[in-house]
Amino acid sequence: MSMLHPLLWPVLGLLMVTASPAEEPPSPAALDLSNMPAATILAVDHSDVLTVRQGSINMQVRLANLSVPSDNPQAQQAARDFLRNLLAGEKVWMIQTTAAPNPQAVRWYVYRWPDKLFVNLELVRQGYADMAPEPSGPAVTAQVLVYWRDQAKQSGKGIWGKGEAKPAVARAPASRPQQAKSAGAGPAAGDASVTDAATIVYVSASGKKYHRANCGTLRKGGNPVPLDEARKSREACRTCNPPQ
Ligand SMILES: [Zn+2]
Repeated sequence: MSMLHPLLWPVLGLLMVTASPAEEPPSPAALDLSNMPAATILAVDHSDVLTVRQGSINMQVRLANLSVPSDNPQAQQAARDFLRNLLAGEKVWMIQTTAAPNPQAVRWYVYRWPDKLFVNLELVRQGYADMAPEPSGPAVTAQVLVYWRDQAKQSGKGIWGKGEAKPAVARAPASRPQQAKSAGAGPAAGDASVTDAATIVYVSASGKKYHRANCGTLRKGGNPVPLDEARKSREACRTCNPPQ
């Protein structure tokens, strides 16, 4: 009996050595963003859509690799609130995953200035979004996102929470989505008008609709106007489905 103990020691040692390196998370590709201009966040339009000002151009940016359940308004709202808290008033660096022929198909990796927080990853890591494959994205980035998505799942964060009490929705389903957006978590009354004034949409001189920046029906490009102004005289475009 006493002879078994020395024989077991190497086995135990091996178990201890092999257990911890398996937990090492994959590392994202190193990025040199120092020579890139940072863009200013103008609005968080949706759970994965930002409006930014890059130089003198306002543009709408859709985050790559993300999927928030479209049939879950609470999850959409939670992701948008998180993104707003993370980025309102901030600057970001942006990297395009691919040069798509259709500008609406372009997806972006976004990094907060100046600490380089990888925003796409943060949404997945904190359980606000699932990871969606991005065919033209780097494989190493996909690995990192999958790793932290699985961690979030195991911990039951956000959309992965099972059986936990969801925050009560103290309102009936709203007929106008933009009212629902700010009614839930908005800290102050009148938050809706602030949000809509900060949300930029695009109009042409003669059109009857307002659009997202990259809408294909805006052939000459649109002029940026606050959403609350645009809404007074125009309807939301059905092609690009801008914020309402
Ligand atoms: Zn449009």
